Order: sequence, then C-alpha cells, then structure tokens
Amino acid sequence: MPDLQPFAYPSRRHLRLHGPRGYSNPQHFKPWLRDEFEFRCVYCLIRERWHPEGDAGFGVEHLRPQSRSPELAADYDNLFYSCCRCNAAKQDLEGILNPAAAPLADHLLVSSDGVPGLPYRVVQKASPLERNT
Ligand SMILES: [Zn+2]
Repeated sequence: MPDLQPFAYPSRRHLRLHGPRGYSNPQHFKPWLRDEFEFRCVYCLIRERWHPEGDAGFGVEHLRPQSRSPELAADYDNLFYSCCRCNAAKQDLEGILNPAAAPLADHLLVSSDGVPGLPYRVVQKASPLERNT
C-alpha cells in the first residue's frame, strides 16, 4: 500500500500499481485510477467520501494536457485522478509537478487554516505547482 495519510502528501514518488493499456477513451481508465490513487485527488488529497458529489466529482487528469500532447491522451502514465476543482484549476498548464517523478511532500504541505469551502488549504513549498490548489 502507498504511504498516503490524511492531510499528508506522500513522502515517496508515486509508483504505479496498474498499467492498463488498450483503451482509446481516457475515461475508461477512471476505475483504474480510482484504485491507483486510493479514491482521492492526487493534488489536494480530498477523498471521494468527503466530496459532496462522490466519485462523480472526480475525473481523469492529464498531466500533459490533451490539447498539447494528444498522443498521451490515453497513456496511463500520463493520467492521474483528481477532483474537478483541481482539474479545472490546472486547465492546460504544463510543467506541473509529476507525482510519479517526485514526492509531493517535498513540494507541498496541507495547512489546517482553511479557505472558504474547505477546512484546509494546500501550501506550496517549491515552485512547480504555481496555480494549482
Ligand atoms: Zn483536488
């Protein structure tokens, strides 16, 4: 099991548990990604159980945006599981920290002083995630 803890980013880079291939529609990877990322958003760590829309509030996140890297649209290694809020915030940004390449705990922490609508907020320690949270 990965070392994910509530409100703590992993101290190790994410090692893929699965490697499904053959889907042309990225949405078909969602069940794999839900399990891969333990039913939580890779960026803000919110769990499906805490989200008012449950798993419907989550989607397939393309680290390298489909608009700029269409060849990676259905490449499992480019796909992550994120809540719609983070996915919308990220949009087509590139250069986002890859959770499979570096431990997020080295770059992010969760602060208990919340923002409107959330009991916590993500604070950036280093620069790659400039607009995400
Ligand atoms: Zn999120």
